[in-house]
Amino acid sequence: MNVAGCHKRQANGYVIIKPTMNHVEIEAKEIRPNVLIFTQSGWIDFYECYKDFVCKKCGSFDWFLATQNGLHAPPTLPARIPDIVTTNDNRAWIVSYRFKKTVEEYSKKLARFIPIPNQKDHYVFLPNDLIFPPKKVRITPEAEYKNEFNLDKLFNGEPHRADKLPCKACGHYSNLCFRRSLFYVPDDVVLCGIVIDTKSMSIAASEELAKHLSEAKLSGLLIKKKSFSRVPNETLIQRKSHS
Ligand SMILES: [Zn+2]
Repeated sequence: MNVAGCHKRQANGYVIIKPTMNHVEIEAKEIRPNVLIFTQSGWIDFYECYKDFVCKKCGSFDWFLATQNGLHAPPTLPARIPDIVTTNDNRAWIVSYRFKKTVEEYSKKLARFIPIPNQKDHYVFLPNDLIFPPKKVRITPEAEYKNEFNLDKLFNGEPHRADKLPCKACGHYSNLCFRRSLFYVPDDVVLCGIVIDTKSMSIAASEELAKHLSEAKLSGLLIKKKSFSRVPNETLIQRKSHS
């Protein structure tokens, strides 16, 4: 997926980035066990309509693909939930109409709000810019990971690492790890979802958008104080292409 149209893509797989804005991570404060969208209960009890998107070999569920044409299953949402929560399986953000309005006031181009069947006021929130993990991720065995205290060193400058090779059937890594301190959000991105694996996503927002969200006093929203990696304005840096 093209997340950084203005960056110069080079033959060696590196892109030149000139960061011009800071990005912070935004999160839902709560995972609600009773907010069920994809499964009828628990983690793996999927609704029939989503079963084709579950890998028969490793069990990973591609919810990005499954929701491409909207949601199909009858969801279970409690009567009162905050403006932002994550589903029982921590896969997706469920947001209120107020959250949608606040984001769209800033810009209508930032995200998709997927309607939930029979729910007027809530949506599944999906940033338009999604940064998927690179096809080849550094493999470090779990044992090595546990014994290493300098995690940046273990990640060797790459924001992603995995314990083992991806599933041969679906190509997904299980237990992909992501290190925010090593990740540069492209400078033209206002809002993006950094897909860690099919189970979770880290959401980055520009500081300006985060301020706008913060002023709206939305319930359930956590704006992390720490920014993503940042290099001085004048510096051109290289990072491996993530597409
Ligand atoms: Zn698989």
